[in-house]
Amino acid sequence: MNLYEYQGKEVFSKNNIPVPKGRVAFNTEEVEKVAGEVGGPVVIKAQVKVGGRGKAGGVKFADSPQEAADMAKELMGKELKGLIIDRLLVEQKLTIQKEIYVGITIDRNQGKPIIMVSSEGGVEIEEVAKKSPEKIYSRHIEPFVGIYPYIAREFAAKLDLTGDNFKVFTSMLLNLYNVFSKYDAQIAEINPLVIAKEGMFAADSKLAIEDDALYRHKEFTPEDSSELPYVELEGFIGCIVNGAGLAMSTMDTLKHLGGEPANFLDIGGGASSEVMKKALTQVANHPKVKVIFINVLGGITRCDEIANGILGAIEEISVPIVVRFRGTNEKEGVEILKNAGYDVDSEMIKAAEKAIAMGKGA
Ligand code: GDP
Ligand code: MN
Repeated sequence: MNLYEYQGKEVFSKNNIPVPKGRVAFNTEEVEKVAGEVGGPVVIKAQVKVGGRGKAGGVKFADSPQEAADMAKELMGKELKGLIIDRLLVEQKLTIQKEIYVGITIDRNQGKPIIMVSSEGGVEIEEVAKKSPEKIYSRHIEPFVGIYPYIAREFAAKLDLTGDNFKVFTSMLLNLYNVFSKYDAQIAEINPLVIAKEGMFAADSKLAIEDDALYRHKEFTPEDSSELPYVELEGFIGCIVNGAGLAMSTMDTLKHLGGEPANFLDIGGGASSEVMKKALTQVANHPKVKVIFINVLGGITRCDEIANGILGAIEEISVPIVVRFRGTNEKEGVEILKNAGYDVDSEMIKAAEKAIAMGKGA
């Protein structure tokens, strides 16, 4: 499970990795308030779980709380790289002198953590690897031994750091490894780790926790549909399906019948009405979606639960929906939607044909 940048920074902060002053805000007024608390120029960062936000326009600067509020208005509710922005991180703006890359992940070939650093921070590491691989230093860590201070110092030396920067970097790297291991991370990345006029900070965070270890980290349970497997596609039919297999066959069926799916979205087994509601809002918010096809095969997932989720979101969405229910509590689910004036199909092909016709007619 990927954490938001602000969640990763909370973890960093608790583990003695310095982060810029600030916090997350969920609406414009809060952004203005936090900007006031931080004082001085701030940076406003879209909290979506994807990299490259800077280039895509998701990182803005403001000199006053009023300006911060204006920026927030511009960002909130907008789409960034296929995701809707519903929260912003407001932080003190740093005067950056140098951007460094630091990342720890698992090298699956070796079965060991690998630490990578580069003097070319702020750029995606894949890009550095392509253009100037000689600027990346890496080294494996024996998982049962862990990291030693001399290893961190070796990295600091490779980056040509000196004096206080050398010391602070060394402690940041040791603490990052500690976070990586303590939180069962798949990846713990700081890009950029900045040397600024104000000091050294983790200016960004990417922390992903191994799903199979989530039971050990209850503070990070998936909270909404943005945690669900979602892939953006080119077409016009928004798809909401339970189970990856059914989601794939739904896409195949749509294509076979002349339709084009707009996304892959698996709401998983046993999805609650709350998850269904959020999934529906998320898919409906894409301008290219002309119709939504909800295809549910009830097993652990209950059709009545899904029906209630649909009703919870339906008033806010403007595109038509086609629903197919089969399986657990199908009757109850159909009844709920019927009472609200919506038809439900039980045949997948029929429902798919209907969705395609509605989408093309729109
Ligand atoms: P990403 O593009 O999603 O990885 O978002 P980042 O958090 O890495 O921000 C992108 C870029 O914005 C960074 O590489 C910095 O160049 C810039 N940036 C972020 N915070 C600050 C800041 O406080 N001051 C300045 N001057 N630039 C910043
Ligand atoms: Mn970054």
